[in-house]
Amino acid sequence: MNSVIPIRAAATGCNDVPALQAVIRERGQREVFCGLTGIIWLHRKIQDAFFLVVGSRTCAHLVQSAAGVMIFAEPRFATAIIDERDLAGLADVNTELDRVVTRLLERRPEIKLLFLVGSCPSEVIKLDLSRAAQRLSQSFSSNVRVLNYSGSGIETTFTQGEDACLAALVPSLPSLQAATDTEAPALLVVGTLADVVEDQFMRLFKQLGIGPVRFFPPRNAGDLPSVGAHTRFLLAQPFLADTARALEARGAQRLAAPFPLGAEGTTAWLQAAATAFGVSAAQFEQAVDPGRQRAISALARLRSQLAGKRIFFFPDSQLEIPIARFLSRELGMVLVEVGTPYLHRQHLAEELALLPDGTVLSEGQHVENQLDRCRAAKPDITVCGLGLANPLEAEGMTTKWAIELVFTPIHGYDQAADLAELFARPLVRRLKLVA
Ligand code: SF4
Repeated sequence: MNSVIPIRAAATGCNDVPALQAVIRERGQREVFCGLTGIIWLHRKIQDAFFLVVGSRTCAHLVQSAAGVMIFAEPRFATAIIDERDLAGLADVNTELDRVVTRLLERRPEIKLLFLVGSCPSEVIKLDLSRAAQRLSQSFSSNVRVLNYSGSGIETTFTQGEDACLAALVPSLPSLQAATDTEAPALLVVGTLADVVEDQFMRLFKQLGIGPVRFFPPRNAGDLPSVGAHTRFLLAQPFLADTARALEARGAQRLAAPFPLGAEGTTAWLQAAATAFGVSAAQFEQAVDPGRQRAISALARLRSQLAGKRIFFFPDSQLEIPIARFLSRELGMVLVEVGTPYLHRQHLAEELALLPDGTVLSEGQHVENQLDRCRAAKPDITVCGLGLANPLEAEGMTTKWAIELVFTPIHGYDQAADLAELFARPLVRRLKLVA
C-alpha cells in the first residue's frame, strides 16, 4: 500500500522559503543487491582487511561475480559456506567457523582485521556472529582484530553494507584526547572514497589550513583515526546513518552539508568544514576557486547533451537525491521521480532544500508500481539496478546502472564531469542506435 505525505525540506541560507516536496512511501517487492556488495569497494580500501562471508553458495557467487575475481589473485574476501548439514543442525557451525578462521589466519599472516560478514542464511539459523567475533578476537588478540556485521539482504539495500561495516569498526577507534581545551578540533571525513579523491581532498584541506584531517575507513587497519568530543566529521556518502550515530555516541559532531558531488556540492561541503574551522572567506576562495572553475568548465561541455533530458530514479544506491540535485542544478536535467530506499531527512536536509520545488520523491520500493509510473512517464534515462536495466532496455528505454555510481570515483571537483558523463554516455549511445 502506498501513502503520499508532504515533507518540508530544511531552509537554507540561499532559499529561506522551504519547498514542499511530495514523498510517495512504498513497501512491496524490492529489486536491489544485498549489503554483501559493499565488500567489493571496502576490501580495496582497507588493504590489510579480510572479509569472510558466512553464507551460502549464492552469497559466494554474488560477491565473486560482482568483484570479477581472477583465479590467480589472492583475494581478501571469501565465503565460509553454510551447507545442508549446518542448516539441519547436524554440525556445530561455530566449531566449523573457528576451524576455517584459524586455517585462514595461519595461511595469511598479513591479515590484521577480519570481518565476519553475516548473510541471510546465517541470520536464518540465528548464528551469533558477534559472539563468534569476540571468541576469535580473544584467540588471535595479539595479531588480528575480528569484528562482525551483517550484509544480509533481508531488509537492506547494497550500500548499507558499508554503513554496517563502518559502524562495527567505530568502537575500535582510539579515543581522541585534546591536550588543552583550546586545542583546534580534528576533521574526520567519513565514507569510502577512491584514494585519488582522498588525496585531492587532502590537498584542498591543506590549502584551507584545516587539520589534522583523517579519513574513515583508513587504508590500513593499523591506522585507525582517533575520535572524541574534539572530532568534527563530514559525511562523504549519504548512506552512513548508523556510522554517524556511532560516531556521535563517541562525542563527535557532524558538520551538516550537502554531499561533495559536482562543483556546487563540493564547494558547499568544503564550506561546511571551512566555517567550522574558522577559515576566512578570502582563503576559502583562493583555495577552492581553481578546482571549482575546472569543474564548471568541464561540465559546460556536457550540459548541451543533458539539459532538458528527463530522468527517473528507482530506489537503489541511496545516492539518488544528491545526484538528482547535481543533475538538475548543474546540468539542467528534469527530475521526473527521485526514488531512494530510505530518506534520512536529517542527513539530507541540505540536499532536499536544493531540489527544485515540487520534485517527486519516493521512499522504499514497490517495484511494479514504480515500473508502471516509469513506463507512463517515458523518461529519457532511467537509473536502476541491474535486474531492471536489461528488461527496460529491451522495451526501448535508456538506463544507467545505479551500482556504477558507487564503483566509479565521482566525488570532488575533478570527478564532476566523470559523474555527468555516466549519464551522457547512455544517451549518446541510444542516439547512435536510433540514427
Ligand atoms: S546475503 Fe542473502 S541476498 Fe545476499 S547473496 Fe546471500 S542469500 Fe542472497
